[in-house]
Amino acid sequence: MANSLVIRALKANAKSFSLSSRKLHQIPNGVAKLTSLLKLQLNNNFLSTLPIELQSLCQLTELNLGNNLLKEIPPVLKYLSSLKKLYLFGNKIESLPEDVFDGLPNLVLLNMNHNKIRVLPPGIKRLTHLEILSVTDNGLEIIPAEIALLEMLTEINLTNNNLVSLPPQLCLLPQLSKIHVARNHLKELPEGIFRLSKLRLLDVAGNCLTMFPVDFQLVRLEELYCEGNTFVQHKLVRSVQDMEVLTLKEQAARLILMDSRKECSLLREALQLRPALAAILSHGGSCALCSQAFLTTWLECVQFISLRKDMKVSGPQSVPVRALLCSYSCFNQSGHMYYGVASV
Ligand SMILES: [Zn+2]
Repeated sequence: MANSLVIRALKANAKSFSLSSRKLHQIPNGVAKLTSLLKLQLNNNFLSTLPIELQSLCQLTELNLGNNLLKEIPPVLKYLSSLKKLYLFGNKIESLPEDVFDGLPNLVLLNMNHNKIRVLPPGIKRLTHLEILSVTDNGLEIIPAEIALLEMLTEINLTNNNLVSLPPQLCLLPQLSKIHVARNHLKELPEGIFRLSKLRLLDVAGNCLTMFPVDFQLVRLEELYCEGNTFVQHKLVRSVQDMEVLTLKEQAARLILMDSRKECSLLREALQLRPALAAILSHGGSCALCSQAFLTTWLECVQFISLRKDMKVSGPQSVPVRALLCSYSCFNQSGHMYYGVASV
């Protein structure tokens, strides 16, 4: 039956061809002769590999290998450099070699849902045209920093994995508009998420977040899903606060940072000659209340942001957002809305 379908497609010089749900254990030989194919569907079969002869399909832009028995990404894919959409969901893929994406520079969509992948290799950076990356229901433990090089990425779906953190480099992706990371083990989201100016959907439900990062309320979200986390609560507890004693290094850093932020600053010019020092100081922050600079010593606080009023999205009434204060004297001022974080 499959062979007669191939013959018919050969005669018709087919652009699109499907052998979905044919109980195939291997591909009929004639498929490699369908050199005009743009779209090939081989999903819902029993394929454990693909023949190398398929490298003749050099015009192929879409390949569906979903729901098969693949244990690795078939090596022949390296030669299918025209591919734009690749579906590998529902297989048994465990690991991805470093060079696995070498021959796929034009890939726009990569779907590897429902596999057993634990690590995305740094080689993913070669997918420079990738717009949609979906790796749900795997065992992912780590996302490489090289993800920052996927500058066209608009949507990333990492739902239901074992991630405990996301790389800060994720916040460097200029086009990113949808992040799905529900049902992982995230304890925090990367600082700098407010830089994602195109982010409209964030799904972090079912993680271990205690608060959102600094300036989270500046993200122009349209949808936020955050139920099932361990957010800090609005509860008053007694505390004893000592005045902090800043180290000499912290005091010097604060002075330099404050000066270098002035319009005319000799220190800023001097820092250009000391890149190592400038790199250290680049980690400095600003007090949410008085704007004074600090380097490594701050008070961690939260403010409770109303999703409806402050962010114009629906969801729980308010969520805690991290805020850093420079000193107890700022914290002890009356009239502000920052709460200290206590474990009770
Ligand atoms: Zn302050």
